[in-house]
Amino acid sequence: MGLNIVVCVKPIPDPEKYNEITIDPVNKTIVREGIPTIINPIDKHAIEEALKIKEQYGGKVILMSMAPPNAKETIQEGLAMGADEAYLLSDKKFAGADTLATSYVLAQGIKKIGGADLVLTGTESGDGATAQVSSQLGEWLDLPHLWGVIECNIKNPDDIYIKTKIENGYMEWAGRLPMVMAVSREINKPRYTTIMGVMKAKKKPFTILTFADLELDENYVGLAGSPTQPGEIFTPEIGRKGELVKGSKEELVQFIIEKLRANGINVEKFTLGCEGGQN
Ligand SMILES: Cc1cc2nc3c(=O)[nH]c(=O)nc-3n(C[C@H](O)[C@H](O)[C@H](O)COP(=O)(O)OP(=O)(O)OC[C@H]3O[C@@H](n4cnc5c(N)ncnc54)[C@H](O)[C@@H]3O)c2cc1C
Repeated sequence: MGLNIVVCVKPIPDPEKYNEITIDPVNKTIVREGIPTIINPIDKHAIEEALKIKEQYGGKVILMSMAPPNAKETIQEGLAMGADEAYLLSDKKFAGADTLATSYVLAQGIKKIGGADLVLTGTESGDGATAQVSSQLGEWLDLPHLWGVIECNIKNPDDIYIKTKIENGYMEWAGRLPMVMAVSREINKPRYTTIMGVMKAKKKPFTILTFADLELDENYVGLAGSPTQPGEIFTPEIGRKGELVKGSKEELVQFIIEKLRANGINVEKFTLGCEGGQN
């Protein structure tokens, strides 16, 4: 059984350069120009899982990303890990997309290449971190979807054992392909890329698809197709002032109580000191 596995990978700004990121005050979007990107770290776990499944059952691992054209180099790292080919969905019309518009374009990209037996994503991105795209993809593709996968054992396409993490433990699921899964870090340890892998990656198929290449409704893409309305974005003013207070222990405690009261904190709720007034 050869499986077509699509892995959605998001290039995110290199965390080392977060201090250089600014926000466009008009569109409220992140200004990414000039900031180097890396593959969203959890997405490497999704690539690793896809490669392991391919090693077991054969098939193809296809990377899919919606990002600006300069993301090619970043996505190539996924090819260097061992993925077979990559599709970059890139068009000025996609700019300003929220999660709904992003997942719509990704879903149409997956349909364009003939669908997939399995779509893998990370649970959340390191920058947006909404953790919405994977489930939205499942809905657009009309496929079952699971989030937070920490174990996946494909016995055959109709018999898959899946374990997902929940707050205080885990849940076990029985499923069948095709489906969409968002994997957690715990699922595996991504392999390192080798020099050989990097060399091979340069020769692997890399296709850029634009708006015109995909069957898209213009009303659902980019900023115009994004129902998310960011509120006011501003840098909070952080000011600190020190105050040196002298006095007895009791006076200092009284001083703190007055300060807390003045700032609206209901100190009567708390018991100060130990019973019996020892401290
Ligand atoms: C008003 C607005 C404007 C925005 N403008 C832009 C913009 O111009 N450019 C921009 O890059 N972002 C923009 N964003 C951010 C963008 O919406 C999100 O980064 C994107 O929708 C994914 O959401 P997320 O990062 O929270 O993904 P999550 O749901 O946290 O990601 C989960 C997983 O989904 C997959 N995934 C997520 N995004 C992609 C992707 N693009 N390609 C492939 N796989 C993906 C990955 O596997 C990831 O691990 C904007 C957001 C808003 C609200």
